[in-house]
Amino acid sequence: MAVTKTVDVATIEEAIGLGITDIGENRVQELREKIEAIGEGVNYHLIGHLQTNKVKYIIDKVKLIHSLDRLSLVKELDKRARQRQLVIDTLVQVNVAEEESKFGLKVEEVLPFIEEVLKYENIRIRGLMTIAPYTDDEALLRKIFRTMYKLKEDISKRKYENLTMDYLSMGMTNDYKIAIEEGSNMIRVGSAIFGARKY
Ligand SMILES: *Cc1c(COP(=O)(O)O)cnc(C)c1O
Repeated sequence: MAVTKTVDVATIEEAIGLGITDIGENRVQELREKIEAIGEGVNYHLIGHLQTNKVKYIIDKVKLIHSLDRLSLVKELDKRARQRQLVIDTLVQVNVAEEESKFGLKVEEVLPFIEEVLKYENIRIRGLMTIAPYTDDEALLRKIFRTMYKLKEDISKRKYENLTMDYLSMGMTNDYKIAIEEGSNMIRVGSAIFGARKY
């Protein structure tokens, strides 16, 4: 997935012309603007924190929400999805390193959370997502990605109904090679494609 935050529409369209099929944005407002400008023909992913009051703007426009991290969000997504008679696909965000600055559940919170989410019929979990710490400590990164992979395998084995572990969304510019080696099947790459972001 190409992460297009701060990237202008013309550049994104150029990337789509070169074969990019999936676009990730971390802010709802920016995602809406890009969807408006670019339109259909590409999959949109919400990869950043999602406030419950913004769910209504994107619920029927995104392929996957990568930042499912709390029950209040589950309830709002389920409600809005039901109103539109759709099932929203999500990934559970896990904060493996338990960084204060990041959203997501602790590893040990994931199973109880998932079992709660299963009660909601218009929301479906399709996998897990993590944002690893920004570091060049390869051993630490491997440990984090392995923890995610094991968690995914563990959940798969439980054969929950209405839940699949199709996606392991991990790996960014700094760490995507390691993430792939450790089992990622969905990397979210921004600056390696578009250059350093100018805010
Ligand atoms: C910005 C962002 C990325 C991409 O970061 P790069 O380091 O530019 O590849 C990936 N995931 C999330 C959640 C992001 O916010």
